[in-house]
Amino acid sequence: MELVTMLGMPGEALRVARDDWRESLTDVVRQAFALHFERNGFYRAQCDAAGLAPSDIRAWADLQRIPLLPVSMFKQAGAHVLMTCGLEDVEIEIRSTGTSGVPSVARRDSTTVTRASVGIFGGYRDFFGISQGAGLFLCPSTAEVPEMGMVKIFNLLTGMLDDHRYIVREYSFDPEEALAQLRSWEGRMTRHLIGPPFIIARFLKYLELEDIPLTLDPDSLIIMLGGWKQYTGNSISRDDFNEKAQRMLGIDRTRIRDMYGMIESNMLAIECEHQRKHVPPWCYISIRDVTDASVELEPGKTGGIAILDALNTAYPGFLLSDDVGEVDEGDCPCGRTGQTVKFRRRRQGAELGCCAVSIEKYIDSREVVSECELADA
Ligand SMILES: [Zn+2]
Repeated sequence: MELVTMLGMPGEALRVARDDWRESLTDVVRQAFALHFERNGFYRAQCDAAGLAPSDIRAWADLQRIPLLPVSMFKQAGAHVLMTCGLEDVEIEIRSTGTSGVPSVARRDSTTVTRASVGIFGGYRDFFGISQGAGLFLCPSTAEVPEMGMVKIFNLLTGMLDDHRYIVREYSFDPEEALAQLRSWEGRMTRHLIGPPFIIARFLKYLELEDIPLTLDPDSLIIMLGGWKQYTGNSISRDDFNEKAQRMLGIDRTRIRDMYGMIESNMLAIECEHQRKHVPPWCYISIRDVTDASVELEPGKTGGIAILDALNTAYPGFLLSDDVGEVDEGDCPCGRTGQTVKFRRRRQGAELGCCAVSIEKYIDSREVVSECELADA
C-alpha cells in the first residue's frame, strides 16, 4: 500500500493483513529514508558513518538500522541543521517549553503539515467516528497558544463537530463555566469532553466534591492527550480515572480514549475501544535498550521509544524519544493490525516536557497567587 493510499483510506490501512502491513511500512519508511539521505547533509553524515544507504533497507528487519535523531537535538541552538527542507519552506513551528524552560522547536514544511493533518483527521474518523455533536475543550484555544502542539492536535476535532467551546482562558479553568456549557448543550447535541487528563480529572473532582449529578449522552466520548504524570511528580491513575468518569458522567469506559504523541513527531497513536493505542500505518515504533540505543528489543519488552515516521519531509522523522514503554504486535480485538504502543514513563534524567504539564503548572501557580492575595486582603 502506498503512503497516499494509507492517508486516504485509514480504515483499510489500519486493518490490512500483518504481512502486507510489514511490507507496506518497510516501503514507505525506505522512501522517506531515501529522501533525507539525498537531501540532508547532516543526516547523510550519520548514514555514511553507519555505512547505510537506502538500498540496504530491503526488509522489515532492516528498519532498526536507520540512524535515529535524539529528540534532545531539537532543543539545541543549531537545531536548523536537522532540516531537510530549507528554512524558507517552513510553514509552521511547534514548540514545547519543558520543565527546564528550554524550548523544543519542531518545524514543518507544507507537505508535512498536509500529510499530518490528513493523517490525524483520518485517524479521528476511524477511531471516533465523529461527524456531529459538541466538544467541550478543557484546554487553551489555538488562538491563545498557537505554537502548542497539543492544542493543535485537539483543534482538528473542531472541524467534525457542530459546536465547540474552549474553556481554559489565560491559563485559568472554571469548572462552573464548564458545567454550565455542558448543560446548555443538553438534549440538543451529543457532548464530548476533550483535553489533557489532569484538567478533566479536576473537573471530575469538582463534580464529586460538589455532589453534582451529570450524565453525558450515549455516544459521548472523552478524548485525551498530554500524559498522566503531573508536574508535581504525581501520576493520575488511569483505573481511578475510568472509574470516576463512569460514576460521575455515566460514560462507558470503552468511550474514554487517550492518545499518545510528542511535538517532535507527527505520530499520533489513538486508543480504540479496548484502550490500546494504535500506531498509524506509516509509522514504525522501535523499542530500544535504554543502556544501548542501537539494540532493538522485541515486542513486549520495555525500553526507549523510537519512532520512524514516513510522513515527515521537513526533517528526518526517525527519532529516539525520551520516553520509555513497549509495543505489542499481537492482534487487537478491535480488528486493527499493526502495532500498539504503551507509554510507561520518561527516561531517567529527562525533563517533563509536554504541553499539558506546562498548562497545569501555570494554572496552579496562578491559583496559588490569587489565594495569597485573598489571604492578604
Ligand atoms: Zn484496538
